[in-house]
Amino acid sequence: MSAALAPEGKTFYIETFGCQMNVHDSEKVAGVLMARGYRPVDSHQEADIILYNTCSIREKAAQKVFSRLGAFRKARSAENKIVGVLGCVAQQEGERFFERAPQVSLVCGSASYAQLPELLAQLESGNRRVTGLDLDTEDCFETEFTRRDNPFRAYLTIIEGCDQRCAFCVVPMTRGPERSRPGAKILAECRRLLDGGYTEIQILGQIVNAWQDPSPARWSFAELLARIAELRGLRRVRFTTSHPRYFTPEIVQAIDSHPVLCDQIHLPVQAGCTEVLARMLRGYSREEYLEKIHCIRAARRAISLSTDIIVGFCGESEEDFEQTVSLMAEVEYDQVFSFKFSPRPNTAALGFVDTVPEEEKARRLALLQEAQRQIQIRRNAALVGQTLEVLVEGYQVRLGQAVGRTTSNRVLNFPGKPADVGRYLNVKVTSAGPNSLVGERIGD
Ligand code: SAM
Repeated sequence: MSAALAPEGKTFYIETFGCQMNVHDSEKVAGVLMARGYRPVDSHQEADIILYNTCSIREKAAQKVFSRLGAFRKARSAENKIVGVLGCVAQQEGERFFERAPQVSLVCGSASYAQLPELLAQLESGNRRVTGLDLDTEDCFETEFTRRDNPFRAYLTIIEGCDQRCAFCVVPMTRGPERSRPGAKILAECRRLLDGGYTEIQILGQIVNAWQDPSPARWSFAELLARIAELRGLRRVRFTTSHPRYFTPEIVQAIDSHPVLCDQIHLPVQAGCTEVLARMLRGYSREEYLEKIHCIRAARRAISLSTDIIVGFCGESEEDFEQTVSLMAEVEYDQVFSFKFSPRPNTAALGFVDTVPEEEKARRLALLQEAQRQIQIRRNAALVGQTLEVLVEGYQVRLGQAVGRTTSNRVLNFPGKPADVGRYLNVKVTSAGPNSLVGERIGD
């Protein structure tokens, strides 16, 4: 990094909206700023630089940054601060941001984060407005230092961008083309994380299983998982998000052979009707998706499944929607993230007729969520009496409760102590609700 260090004592604050990749991007951006001498603070009032890392996956998410900027403009504390907008809305709006929010001086999409040190240096040397909006890149965002916010679970991005063209999705237009990091670099970062005391690694990518080793070794994604799982000292590895199109039996075999790979797969289906899937350009039919599920269900250990579903996509009839509900009943997911279709700029679906009225989308969403609630009540109740290992992630002082997470990604609360945080403990499940379990600790 050639740029000079920040003026002494300067501080920054980052607010992050959206997915885990955004959370991790913010951790890396924080690392870049700290390496330049900036100090993180806990509120925008205290900060000299304020950054909003934005999400544009749905209209509501995209609007958040504008309401934040509006509220912030009125605040007296706004004077003499540098305000920057990062991420997907930054990429989508580009220089228009300066008109909509004149207090903004930095607009940078995720595909240009490698240029951040340079952009910051330009701001420091008096430039009023700088942008990083180039999407045509082969670079991944590599940082020498990343400020990780969770002391036990570390996020690690292995692939950036997205080459899928799902008709509803804005991500390829906001995050640029797919760029995979070399396998050896990923393994080296994992080793550094283990040396730093992390015991759980969560591997990230918009389409994580589209990862292709760009180095001559040419490991497959399943091979990469196995190699990471074999690292000494690692207790848990999760990966998200997988695309059904790239989901291979070898991934299930890797999970079966390596207990360190968690009993959990997130496999977004989006819809249960083949015609809707074809209009969404997802690249698989209902039957092909269910074949992947059968492969996962045939594993030697029980693997917990979660998914994403969009209701009310263009042209979705009542019968199409019922097929989604029936697929959910057939698969019996442990968790479903469900959304009303939200038309997005520059996507193929913008050219389709959005046939499902807003109230009907809301009705379908409520119906689907209630059906899934019943499935979760049943599936969680079946765990009562079992002893499960949890990583204790937090402690609620008011309730005297430790908050653990099982390998299947369920929250399991139990009477504990603050010193339990960060430990792996065995907990017997004593009761269950739709969204979490309650238990008691077994042994010391
Ligand atoms: N890249 C991942 C994939 O393709 O599965 C996840 C992308 S996104 C962060 C998470 C979820 O948001 C998607 O799986 C989808 O269900 C939902 N989503 C994406 N675009 C949407 C839209 N236009 N309207 C409603 N939901 C949307």
